[in-house]
Amino acid sequence: MTKRLYYDQPYLTAFDSTVTAVRPLAGGCAVTLAESSFYPTSGGQPFDTGTLNGLRVCDVSVDDDGEVWHTIEGTLEPGMPAHGEIDWPRRFDHMQQHAGEHMIAGAVWRLYGGVTIGLHLGADFSTIDVTMPNGETHLTAEQIRAVEDEVNADIQRDVPIRCWFPDDAELSALPLRKPPTVKEHVRIVAIGDKEMVACGGTHPSSAGQIALVKIIDARPSKGKVRLAFVCGMRAVMDYREKYDACTQAAALLSARCAQLPESVSRLKDAIAELEHRLSEAYQAEALGQVQTLREHARLINGVRVIAARLPALAPDGLRRLASELTGDENAVALLAAEKEGGWNLVFSRGAAVVLDMGKLLREAAARCGGKGGGRSDFAQGSAPDLSALDTAIGIIQGEL
Ligand SMILES: [Zn+2]
Repeated sequence: MTKRLYYDQPYLTAFDSTVTAVRPLAGGCAVTLAESSFYPTSGGQPFDTGTLNGLRVCDVSVDDDGEVWHTIEGTLEPGMPAHGEIDWPRRFDHMQQHAGEHMIAGAVWRLYGGVTIGLHLGADFSTIDVTMPNGETHLTAEQIRAVEDEVNADIQRDVPIRCWFPDDAELSALPLRKPPTVKEHVRIVAIGDKEMVACGGTHPSSAGQIALVKIIDARPSKGKVRLAFVCGMRAVMDYREKYDACTQAAALLSARCAQLPESVSRLKDAIAELEHRLSEAYQAEALGQVQTLREHARLINGVRVIAARLPALAPDGLRRLASELTGDENAVALLAAEKEGGWNLVFSRGAAVVLDMGKLLREAAARCGGKGGGRSDFAQGSAPDLSALDTAIGIIQGEL
């Protein structure tokens, strides 16, 4: 079984050992060492990267016998001396996220009785799933703030973090947050005098090194609450990104950052009001064109076909215009009004015209990737371009 140096020396970044076994792999090999500082993927914490004898270590895993396997790009021989070096920024980031997770899980347990099961330490943020005692699947903004305040207060007090292997007698007397999932070689991590739980991961020696903990999301997930969080430099980067975005948005709105929600809300109201007024103006303009549109109608076998492209009329304005035009019992109105990414279509006919508008619109729209349908005398839909109008005229010419 590989001796794991990181248990007692989480700050060890370089070590010397001996290769004990080699397994060939495509493009390299996997090796075990007598002792190793490399953390293998386990307990939600990803593996360390680094080098062995200068060869890149690109994966580290542990087998059922407790052997740590290092996947390297290159080859080593059993019995060879091995010099390992850990990528420290990646490892220290994992230590910060991992210890922050303990503190969040501990606070959620103490404050609300929530039981945390499982950590996923991701490349950008980490998550835990919490089972709440009352079956709740969310935490309020106030509850989340209370967790953050409690955790960050202990970080600022720089409470010590201690890891050790207690004997059975000591273990049975420890006030653990939850029972250990392993029976032998139980390793305990204690953070200050509040959080104590079994864990095989790597942690900094005091909470101050976590620097900052921020919960960035809380949402229901399969009957639990899923909390997403960032610690250390990730929290600093998250603050920087949000600060930059808020500052730029606030400058655009000539507001202070704290006024952004109110300013954006006002802006949305103003846009909605303008859109309403514009739509009314378009409608008045369109209705004022009824006579002109009639004069430009195309006569097809006694039926007056009026095809028109219009600005962004609201759907009820478009329907009203169609209804005005087909007050003439021998008229067909084929109307298209601009909308985002295409056109709204309304096809309508006067009472004496023998054509099915629902079928006509469905066919004409489908040929250019649009859709729609309706009754025999009135139909509506949408299309990505105006070719639907020409298609419709072609079909009418064939049918009349
Ligand atoms: Zn841990």
